[in-house]
Amino acid sequence: MSTTYEFQAETKRMLQLMINSIYTNREIFLRELISNASDAIDKLRFAALTETNLVPEDANYEIFLVPDQKNKALTISDNGIGMTQEELIANIGTIAKSGTKEFIDKLQNHEHLNATELIGQFGVGFYSAFMVADKITLLTKKAGTDLAFKWESTGDGKYNIEPASKESCGTTITLHLKEEHTLDSNNEQNYLNQQTLQTLVKKYSDYIRFPIKMLFDIPVQESDSVETKQELKILNSMAPLWTKNKNDIKPDEYNQLYKHLFLDWQDPLDVIHTRAEGVFEYITLLYIPEHAPYDFYQKEHTTGIKLYSKNVFIMDDCRELLPEYLRFVKGIIDTPDVSLNISREILQQNQTLKKIGKNLEKTILKNLEVMLKNSRDKYLKFFKEFGKAIKHGIYADYSSHEKLRELLLFPSSRSVTEDSLITLAEYVANMKPEQDVIYYATGKDRQAIDSLPQIEVLKEKGLEILYFLDRVDEFAIDMLAEYAGKKFQSISRGQLDLSKFETEQDKASQDKLINENKDLLEAIKNALTEKVDEVRISNRLKSSPVCLISSDSGISISMEQILADVQDSKIKATKILELNPNHEIFKTLKRTFEVDAQSEQFVDYCKLLYGQATLLEGLTVENPVDFAKLIAKLMK
Ligand code: ADP
Ligand code: MG
Repeated sequence: MSTTYEFQAETKRMLQLMINSIYTNREIFLRELISNASDAIDKLRFAALTETNLVPEDANYEIFLVPDQKNKALTISDNGIGMTQEELIANIGTIAKSGTKEFIDKLQNHEHLNATELIGQFGVGFYSAFMVADKITLLTKKAGTDLAFKWESTGDGKYNIEPASKESCGTTITLHLKEEHTLDSNNEQNYLNQQTLQTLVKKYSDYIRFPIKMLFDIPVQESDSVETKQELKILNSMAPLWTKNKNDIKPDEYNQLYKHLFLDWQDPLDVIHTRAEGVFEYITLLYIPEHAPYDFYQKEHTTGIKLYSKNVFIMDDCRELLPEYLRFVKGIIDTPDVSLNISREILQQNQTLKKIGKNLEKTILKNLEVMLKNSRDKYLKFFKEFGKAIKHGIYADYSSHEKLRELLLFPSSRSVTEDSLITLAEYVANMKPEQDVIYYATGKDRQAIDSLPQIEVLKEKGLEILYFLDRVDEFAIDMLAEYAGKKFQSISRGQLDLSKFETEQDKASQDKLINENKDLLEAIKNALTEKVDEVRISNRLKSSPVCLISSDSGISISMEQILADVQDSKIKATKILELNPNHEIFKTLKRTFEVDAQSEQFVDYCKLLYGQATLLEGLTVENPVDFAKLIAKLMK
């Protein structure tokens, strides 16, 4: 009895898109199906470790390709774990993955995006077969059960499932190929062509650890005619890449394995392949991706470390192996020192793995250090994608400081282009002899910082300023506190001690100004009830009349904003209003104060100045309506 099911709405849409909008690179369907077959065998091998009667001991795991010229069909079979009826519905009929919506949106809204890239990124493997087939029949039998099922669909929104018979466990997928993929005139896309299939397996699936077999037609000369004989061939070389000698591996082989294992569509930025012998024996093949996944910084991410023992896959997502901040690293660790049926709980406590993890952390950081030193452009690429992770590492883990601070990069007031970033060491090397702090400014972009009122004076004195454009920057730097014995100093926090760059005369006049204006400053503070904690004369302003800064202790104004944004926090910065004593506005304010310290006009001026300072800091005024009214009133 056959039952018809509807694909889930999202699946339907995706199938439509797959079928109707992807014309290039359709060949990847084969990689996807072979990868599923290989996963299925892995799963059976793993299950058989504990359920010993599941498969005969001498089971020959294999993947079989059969191009069927007569029926214009290609079958891909495996003797892996197979699926129950429920699993068929759950795995093939529905897309459980949360990324699917985004996938569909991207596919629909960004025509320039390469569909192959998206397929890889979102891992919608099985459905890719509908790019080349107008009907798919899947026959499957779950290991350990007696029931087999036939699943069939033309990709039109529905699929059928019916009981069937199948001799042994595993899955056979038959693709009824679209006519255009069966034509001799176009061999590259003719998926019945044996040579094409051989080439595709070599290209995408060479390292699959189980043999991918196919019967090859071999022409044989017989007296006066040519006959065709068939010969069984293994299309892939099977050796797990990481067990081979480094010198025997081509860069492209590393890349292909990476793309296969980690569903990325781009080559990795860097490959780290090491072998350790001695107390701990392990091989690692680690990759630094070229791009952060689209949601890397938004949600908790699975780590891309896969654990193997002597080539046998044990588990994915071994987050206990590497510190959180290195979660962008992907790769495999193969060690004979863990047992195949190790549980996740035991894994966490495994001392050997802990030691291996420590070594890996060192290796990765060393690698990044060398990259920074020898391939700056490559490192810049890396930092653009994953710099935030490094900063988070500094913020989250005190013990990481020494290792990570040399890896930081920041834009600075000295850099000419948007992309030129400098290290802290480079900053320090460029410091003025009398300078003893590292100046930085926070803002949402370069422009915002360049228009901060307080930046002018520092630039004029030839002091370099680091630009903190990431939200995490100031938090991380607060944890670091200093570098090479130099404290970090925000140009918007605390007292800027610029005295070293000033003449004796400047200093004397500064002191005089402060003394002379004590009452005025006090009156301004009172006029701005509660809004600011202090009002003082500034030494950091040139053409701007005011600026709003925060005190050294506690958090900064930008941190206050971020915390309020991210965690609804009510923690406030201690705010200080600084006035430029050389500005016309200061003089006007002073005159108004001297005429009548209690006047409404004086209070209005104070409020206006405060509003202005808020805006200059890149913040919004607390009450825009009142602020607008105030301006209107003064213009009348
Ligand atoms: P993914 O492989 O990323 O999970 P796919 O769309 O390629 O996504 O496959 C969906 C699911 O269907 C797999 O996770 C697996 O559970 C099941 N599946 C696909 N092919 C096979 C197969 N040959 N044998 C057993 N299960 C399979
Ligand atoms: Mg898959």
